[in-house]
Amino acid sequence: MPSYDELKARQEALLGRVQVACVKAGRNPVEVRILPVTKTHPAEAAARAHALGFPAVGENRVQEAALKRPNCPPGLRWELIGHLQSNKARTALQTFEVIQSVDSAELASRLGRLAGEMGLIREVLIQVNSGDDPAKFGCDLADAPAVLEAALAWPSLRVGGLMAVAPLSDDPAVAERAFANLRLCRDRLAERSGLPLRELSMGMSGDLESAVAAGSTCLRVGSALFGARPSA
Ligand SMILES: *Cc1c(COP(=O)(O)O)cnc(C)c1O
Repeated sequence: MPSYDELKARQEALLGRVQVACVKAGRNPVEVRILPVTKTHPAEAAARAHALGFPAVGENRVQEAALKRPNCPPGLRWELIGHLQSNKARTALQTFEVIQSVDSAELASRLGRLAGEMGLIREVLIQVNSGDDPAKFGCDLADAPAVLEAALAWPSLRVGGLMAVAPLSDDPAVAERAFANLRLCRDRLAERSGLPLRELSMGMSGDLESAVAAGSTCLRVGSALFGARPSA
């Protein structure tokens, strides 16, 4: 894991990249947040991100985050960005302020019911497989309206917007298409529902420029901050 100073230098380089991408896209950088992704790294990585001024971190496994969180500053917010199995919904609601990976109407209903019972209000994003990649989680584009509707039925859930992971490809056009699809999906759902659905969580270390161009408001960045992950 990088030292605090190394991390600070990477944070500055990253902010520079986002700044340039925003200028190119004619966007205001305050609209684009960076979510450091600390999966596979020790709790110290999340604590350092917090010390650098990041208000939240992203994790893709419920259990891993639940173990790290007690060793991190209480003010840090945690966001789930990985697939959520329904038997872990309760722990996820206890561990994360935001669940970005709501990918079915069933999961939305379960989260809504449990959060209500637990007296919690949680922000959720609808994860859409907007690159139509069989290897990726997320609901189909065509099913996004039903997932949204299921989530909106619960006062315990606030739907902030949509999330997608672009397919792995050497061709940048593949990610660009996935991002454009997510944006279009959001625009349609916002129009139908009358809700802003402001958050578009898309873009990672390798493709953040095209995600910013397509309207991303949340870049989930792991390796550009913390270095390569140890292979599992
Ligand atoms: C790991 C992960 C990221 C970060 O990926 P990097 O390429 O390391 O920036 C972003 N989003 C999700 C869903 C991830 O699982």
